[in-house]
Amino acid sequence: MNKNELYRRIPKVDSLLGDERIRELIRSCGKESVMKAIHEETDELRAFLKCHEEDEAADTRMAEMIPHIKERVEKDAQMHMRPVINGTGMILHTNLGRAPLNHDQAQRMAGMMMGYTSLEYDLDLGKRGERYSHFEGLLKEITGAEAAMAVNNNAAAVLLALSALASGGEVIVSRGELVEIGGKFRIPDVMELSGAGLKETGTTNKTHPEDYENAIGEETKAILKVHTSNYSIVGFTESVGTARLSEIAKAHDLPLIEDLGSGALVDLRKYGLTYEPTVQDVIRAGADIVCFSGDKLLGGPQAGIILGKEEYIARMKKHPLTRAFRIDKYTAGALEMVLREYRCEAQAVERVPVLHMITQPYEAVAKEAEDLYSRLKEADLKADIKTQESEAKIGGGSLPLEKIKSRAVSVRPKEMSVSALEERMRHLPVPIIPRVAKDQILLDARTIFPGQHALLVDELKSLIGGEPQE
Ligand SMILES: *Cc1c(COP(=O)(O)O)cnc(C)c1O
Repeated sequence: MNKNELYRRIPKVDSLLGDERIRELIRSCGKESVMKAIHEETDELRAFLKCHEEDEAADTRMAEMIPHIKERVEKDAQMHMRPVINGTGMILHTNLGRAPLNHDQAQRMAGMMMGYTSLEYDLDLGKRGERYSHFEGLLKEITGAEAAMAVNNNAAAVLLALSALASGGEVIVSRGELVEIGGKFRIPDVMELSGAGLKETGTTNKTHPEDYENAIGEETKAILKVHTSNYSIVGFTESVGTARLSEIAKAHDLPLIEDLGSGALVDLRKYGLTYEPTVQDVIRAGADIVCFSGDKLLGGPQAGIILGKEEYIARMKKHPLTRAFRIDKYTAGALEMVLREYRCEAQAVERVPVLHMITQPYEAVAKEAEDLYSRLKEADLKADIKTQESEAKIGGGSLPLEKIKSRAVSVRPKEMSVSALEERMRHLPVPIIPRVAKDQILLDARTIFPGQHALLVDELKSLIGGEPQE
């Protein structure tokens, strides 16, 4: 059969629209989405016919047209942002949304989302209230700070602090701390944006107290200390700690602003991790303003928390940028909820998912890996399955060198390549994001919730189960 004749046999749009199955699709998903799918499918069919002239292949392909259109429409109707299973072992995975909430916390948030809330309504006075009121007291209680507020993220928090306290003047920063945090957040750029001039001091590897003393001049409005969370200079290094810097700042009547980045509220040394200054430590050591992320080590919603001296926080609350950076009701509610967990450290470590994943003993993670392994074994997959030691990471620019001993299930598919399997896993209804290493798929048990095991096994079975593969 010649090509033109073949093309003529492709069903026309009108005849497709007359098909009851297509009509049903339009009723449930809307005409626009169905028309888009018809056009895409027709284009693909034409491309297919170009390389397949035999009647039989062409006929089979044409017969599948309507089911294919249905598939396209259904895929188009799915939410583009979806829950995924994190098998990477990266606990604060920025691309996967950093900190998750637990089931109970998510349910309480759902209640808050379905109606009105007391976001800016003072229930005691029956009049307008402040959106920070829900968590400011908690932050003060937990950290010992005089006052607190929050904006959309820590990048905004740093920009606000510099704009409110140092615009038009100079801010002193050590050359060892002029870092790029990622996603185009560079300290020198943020400084410029805030209207504060950057006064560099010290060297990349060493900065001494005298360097700060010597840099202070007429124009100086603040000293900024940046926690270099996502890299570390090792070897011949020296930096000035918060306590010493605070003495220098006080002697010159300047505010000391500390960008802490991760913002741990729990001392993780108890759980075998390297020392990371906690927010409490930095406040105690004399920082006047501390900024940190809500969704890094705190394990809450995306936010930039700012706390410290009352007079400085009051100036920030009044700054016009605060309105531009203001948090929404979901963030305010989730922050209060997660911070409440910190009233009791043991509870926080158990119930804040990020802390739980970081502090969970290896033996417990190994047990979960074993459970996943035996379920996968039982599913009779066309793959070699085993468990092996793994290294989880905190991620999100927190404790970059920290490797947490973990255990993973390794999957080596027998009838497809690792990259083909990885791609299919990404397209599952609940996508599974694994770590791909040396020709195997690794599923790190530290970041997979035990409640996800059954689903994960079912999904993998649909990809590499006993059923014949196409
Ligand atoms: C992560 C980080 C930021 C940016 O925080 P976001 O909440 O992601 O905006 C700023 N400073 C430091 C030191 C950081 O580690």
